[in-house]
Amino acid sequence: MVLENLGQSLRDVLKKIVNASNIDEKLVKEITKDIQRALLQADVNVKLVLEITKEVERRALTEKPPAGKSSREHVIRIINDELVKILGEPKTLPVQKQVIMMVGLYGQGKTTTSGKLGRYFHKKGMKVGLIAGDVYRPAAYDQLKQIADKVGIHFFGIPGETNASKIVAEGMKALANQDIIIVDTSGRHALEADLIQEIKDIANVAKPTERILVLDASVGQQAGPQAQAFHDAVGITSVIITKMDGTAKGGGALSAVARTKAPIVFIGVGEHLEDLDPFIPSRFISRMLGMGDLQSLMETAKENISEDAAEEVTKKIMSGKFTLREMYDQMEMLSNMGPLKKLMGMLPGMPGGMTDKINVEESQARLAKYRIIMDSMTDEEMEEPRLIKGNRINRIAIGSGTDPKDVRELLHQYNNSKKAVKGFMGNRKLRKQLMKQAGAGGLEGME
Ligand code: GDP
Ligand code: MG
Repeated sequence: MVLENLGQSLRDVLKKIVNASNIDEKLVKEITKDIQRALLQADVNVKLVLEITKEVERRALTEKPPAGKSSREHVIRIINDELVKILGEPKTLPVQKQVIMMVGLYGQGKTTTSGKLGRYFHKKGMKVGLIAGDVYRPAAYDQLKQIADKVGIHFFGIPGETNASKIVAEGMKALANQDIIIVDTSGRHALEADLIQEIKDIANVAKPTERILVLDASVGQQAGPQAQAFHDAVGITSVIITKMDGTAKGGGALSAVARTKAPIVFIGVGEHLEDLDPFIPSRFISRMLGMGDLQSLMETAKENISEDAAEEVTKKIMSGKFTLREMYDQMEMLSNMGPLKKLMGMLPGMPGGMTDKINVEESQARLAKYRIIMDSMTDEEMEEPRLIKGNRINRIAIGSGTDPKDVRELLHQYNNSKKAVKGFMGNRKLRKQLMKQAGAGGLEGME
């Protein structure tokens, strides 16, 4: 079995769980062994592998699945959680004065990623300079210069010069007043002694505090030895996985991280300079395991909503409480989702035309009006909206500087929402189905 197959063999384990007639001790022991084998073959440290698989086994055998989840889903969740631990805590590159050196084999994305990082720091207000340290590839100088011009950052290179350390030494002087210097280097098709010597020499001259290994997501079996060789040469401090926008699931990255103990800091998600995303371990593992895009979808929503707030409202509604406050909170959350259309577009069952009908501005304007009206209500009225009629409507309209018809519209909206919530809560089958769907959604992408 080749390493390319780490993701594959882990996905096979999950398939085994999905297809099992029931989750018993025998199955748990079997899958624990399978995971052990897969991780060991991917160069993950033996001690870590044992720790992780022991924890998977213990949790799978003792933990009760949370409400609404099957034991199958729960065991898969446990495996996911434990694998995330291999990747460690997420780390970001500090925004501060520093020298960064990019290393990696040919075509992995060093030059492109140098530009992406340059843009990233430039946007954060840092003065950035790029040094063209690739003397091996004929067009390397032009490629990096073009990128630097596009981003609007400084650039240093000596066309035709074949001594990389000389370029870097002069570049360090020329760019001395920049905050961040990023040194691009040559690659080769395979690990070669002269490449290793070259990057060692460059490191001696540039004294980079960050030495970033750039790895293409499709790199499989080679990831471990590659990472090791670069690590031995210059001491890798961070890893960037590129081309995560393709079909490769990046399983080899796990080996690289395991060998170098250097965290993945970013992922490349396209050819453009803005296609650089922070690395999120849990999402990466889910993708490797083929758990679908659900997590990405949830992240998009989460960017703007506090997860706690969302949970709280849902809990209240589930408990049968649905006052004007709950309606308002719910509406506010929806309108706060910002790029709502984008989010809707990501939902699997959403027909294209449907998303056009949602007018974010309009709903936000309405929300603002509702807020003003609600501010003129008493606490009692907020909790018991059915009290609001006759004179109260007029009082609220006057207090909020709106029209009684606006107050009635708000109440109408409330009654409709309440009916919908009631219908939903009363329909046991529907409710169960939805809860199940929400719980099992993460498995959707699994082949
Ligand atoms: P280098 O040889 O390591 O410097 O690699 P380059 O930066 O020249 O990249 C090699 C190719 O990969 C180029 O065509 C890039 O446009 C492409 N590339 C780099 N990063 C990404 C990425 O994250 N996604 C995609 N789709 N292409 C990428
Ligand atoms: Mg290059």
